Amino acid sequence: MKTFPMFLRLEGRTVVIVGGGEQAAQKCRLMLKTEARIVVAWPTLDPELAGLAQEGRIDWHQDPITIDAFCDAALVFVATGCPGSATALHALAEEAGALVNVVDQPALCSAVTPSIVDRDPVVVAIGTEGTAPVLARRIKSQMETLLEPRLGELAALAGRLRPAVAATVPPAKRRGFWAWVFSGAPRDLFRTGAERAAARSIKSAIADGGAPKQTDEGRIALVGAGPGAADLLTLRAVQALQEADVIFYDRLVGPEILELARRDAERVYVGKEVGGQVWPQSRISALIVSAARRGQRVVRLKSGDPLLFARAGEELAAAAEAGIPVDIVPGVTAAAAAAASLGKPLTERGETDRAVLATGTCRPSDAPPDMAEILRPGTSVALYMSVSAAPCIQRDLLAQGYPRDIEADVVANASRADEVILRSSLGRLAQDMAAADIDHPAILFLRAPKSRYQALPEAAPATRTAA
Ligand code: SAH
Repeated sequence: MKTFPMFLRLEGRTVVIVGGGEQAAQKCRLMLKTEARIVVAWPTLDPELAGLAQEGRIDWHQDPITIDAFCDAALVFVATGCPGSATALHALAEEAGALVNVVDQPALCSAVTPSIVDRDPVVVAIGTEGTAPVLARRIKSQMETLLEPRLGELAALAGRLRPAVAATVPPAKRRGFWAWVFSGAPRDLFRTGAERAAARSIKSAIADGGAPKQTDEGRIALVGAGPGAADLLTLRAVQALQEADVIFYDRLVGPEILELARRDAERVYVGKEVGGQVWPQSRISALIVSAARRGQRVVRLKSGDPLLFARAGEELAAAAEAGIPVDIVPGVTAAAAAAASLGKPLTERGETDRAVLATGTCRPSDAPPDMAEILRPGTSVALYMSVSAAPCIQRDLLAQGYPRDIEADVVANASRADEVILRSSLGRLAQDMAAADIDHPAILFLRAPKSRYQALPEAAPATRTAA
């Protein structure tokens, strides 16, 4: 290691930033996170720095810069944006005994600033000694997803409670107590915003002299994996994947998402091929319940949002019957991702006041969905599972007198590398889909804005053909 990571105590100490422009302002923003006294030394200040000086949050050293400017400095940033003056300023600051960082000149740095993941008081610093800044940013974004936004507040609460824990929890139980706080119920509660409940549970455990007895009962999380792109996963979903012992996943959940799971989590594919019944739903429900009964943390990972066209009802009922708690982690549903790819709002004030999410395919025993009932003036419809049914839907609507120019767009594989966007109309839908070779999974959008369609034919179920 050419540089050694340390955390500098800056409370009450002086940090001098030489420079008055954006580069200096950037260092200033960083230092304002600390409790250091900040001195900005430069004859002129940009409006942001001038504002900070006026508010008294920084001191402005306007005089010519001599060694005196650096006398009590713990740390000096040379951020003038002017390489010519950097060597001389660096020499002065070093002579005064300060650690020096000259922006963009690694050879002149006795201290380098890392990439920071800030969950104050929990701080992660990442450095690559200048070899791979892009890698540092990637690691930073991975850490950002792993450490939930409220983690710092939990750590701060733990810090405040340390004396109470030392007073009432016997030494032999303390490690277990803190392990429970940071990986058990308190952290789960905190993560989901139930801070008061988390604080209450910690305080009551302190009063009881230790963490509550672990029940060996597992949990189930129904987790939305989003439409496919890994960066459309929520932070909470990544967290659940990181904690899972076993993950039951569907056909539409891709490898780049499973990649984010804990390495030794067991992965079980329970997907159904289109129309196939490889894994009956009852068997999936039974499997997740029995894994949780064995004490495992189960993630049931479903594409999009877990409560939309995902048969969550059956799994929730099975878990409820077994008395197993279930967390539900929402996800970006396919219609939202497809609309974003298309660049068209699902609702528009005064034009489409109603957005309907529906399926184009029902259970084989049910009548096909009545599109004329759904597609009324002022409505946009996003149809899931409708690729095979599209020609049928088109035929029925045209047969009922729907205009051929109704907008009909299709987005297949939304958010994935192989995304296909088709802008078509009701009249041309089937032939355009065939020509574009649209395959599962796709969303079919139908739009009837009010200004173009004041009236549309009423539903006439008798004319509809079976899918
Ligand atoms: N729970 C999921 C829906 C599962 S049903 C969600 O909220 O998105 C399966 C249907 O979802 C597919 O037939 C297709 O209509 C749609 N779908 C899923 N992923 C998709 C994607 N990436 N692009 C387009 N449609 C998708």
